[in-house]
Amino acid sequence: ITTINTTAFDQYESNVRSYCRSFPTVFRQAQGALLYNEQQRAYIDFFAGAGALNYGHNNPQIKQVLLEYLESDQIMHGLDMYTSAKRSFLERFNQVILAPRNLPYKVQFCGPTGANAVEAALKLARKVTGRTSVISFMGGYHGLSLGGLAVTGNADHRAAAGVPLAHTNFLPYPRGPLAAIDSLNYLETVLTDTHSGFDKPAAIILETIQAEGGIYVAPTEWLQGLRHLCDRHGIVLICDDIQVGCGRTGSFFSFEDAGIVPDLVTLSKSISGYGLPMALVLIKPEYDQWQPAEHTGTFRGNQLAFVGATAALDYWQTDTFSKAIHTLAQQLETFLQTQLLPLDQRLTIRGKGLVWGIDFAELGPAASKAIMQECFAQGLIIERVGRGDSVLKIMPPLTIDSALLAQGCAILQQVVQTYLA
Ligand code: PMP
Repeated sequence: ITTINTTAFDQYESNVRSYCRSFPTVFRQAQGALLYNEQQRAYIDFFAGAGALNYGHNNPQIKQVLLEYLESDQIMHGLDMYTSAKRSFLERFNQVILAPRNLPYKVQFCGPTGANAVEAALKLARKVTGRTSVISFMGGYHGLSLGGLAVTGNADHRAAAGVPLAHTNFLPYPRGPLAAIDSLNYLETVLTDTHSGFDKPAAIILETIQAEGGIYVAPTEWLQGLRHLCDRHGIVLICDDIQVGCGRTGSFFSFEDAGIVPDLVTLSKSISGYGLPMALVLIKPEYDQWQPAEHTGTFRGNQLAFVGATAALDYWQTDTFSKAIHTLAQQLETFLQTQLLPLDQRLTIRGKGLVWGIDFAELGPAASKAIMQECFAQGLIIERVGRGDSVLKIMPPLTIDSALLAQGCAILQQVVQTYLA
């Protein structure tokens, strides 16, 4: 296994480290699912900006529209003013995404990053219910702002900022050491029993697939049960679709397959289509109770991001893209089941669509890091997530072609095989 020397980078550093320990090189260009460093070495991207590059790097269709926008001196910053770019996005989003799914959501721009959408959703849930606590889940990740941290089920992230878990951190959906505990039943009991001392929460926030938490896919029945529980108790259900939304699971929204409609949905990362900062909350109309100036911000809605986002929605006009994702997903799952898993019985895999995790925990704490580093040395970028960072997360752009996906998988297989030997 090659050891990577990062000391060469230290000479450029002043106070805060800005190079990336996991992928110690200087990247300069990118196209589709390939990144190139300054020496023109190509790397296959199984990371995709943690879900910010679902349509690939420098997507040519989107780039063209952005260039035309820049060339014609249109608005670059509009604060809360209405602009052509904002209107086009809203019209198109309604037409291509919301209306066909019969989702009546209103769109609130937050910005510029995912955590801003989470903050807005938490604030709004507290405002409309008049309650304060929020239920979140072990292993959940909702951003590193103070509110986001308070619902992030990861003690290490919170410890750094001294943020206590201000809200009830609850049981995850059935998995791991708590798999035997029926979390829905337990929640129902404490919420119904007036002597339980359990305050009714304003909201429940969840990811349908915990991504940073280690790729745990919530079962459909569990999601449906949670929706019913929220209905019975007047709890706002927030789906954080920041990482696994925008097509990652094969559908535009990750919750579609379960047939549930959350009250609030947070979106960011790939919504702008081009890696530009953009974040929003989708709000059921009855919950749109913001008063003027209650939740503002200078960079709510980046105009270029609106333009990229509008162009990206072309992918969703028909079901062709969704079908292509399913085909790639099938290829990836088949590889994992038939080529990777048989390498060692201690390996486990979890996932859906084009987000999969390979859990190396049983191989000891050093395995996932060594494998990630050697993948990088072999030209494959793949990130670690989950407890002890023991899970390699496979998250290529959704536009990756089948041959490149196969090539990345072959590197991974060969590296794991060598590690095990
Ligand atoms: N929610 C989820 C599910 C995420 O994956 C992330 C980012 N990894 C965030 C929220 C926070 O987004 P950001 O880093 O853009 O603030």
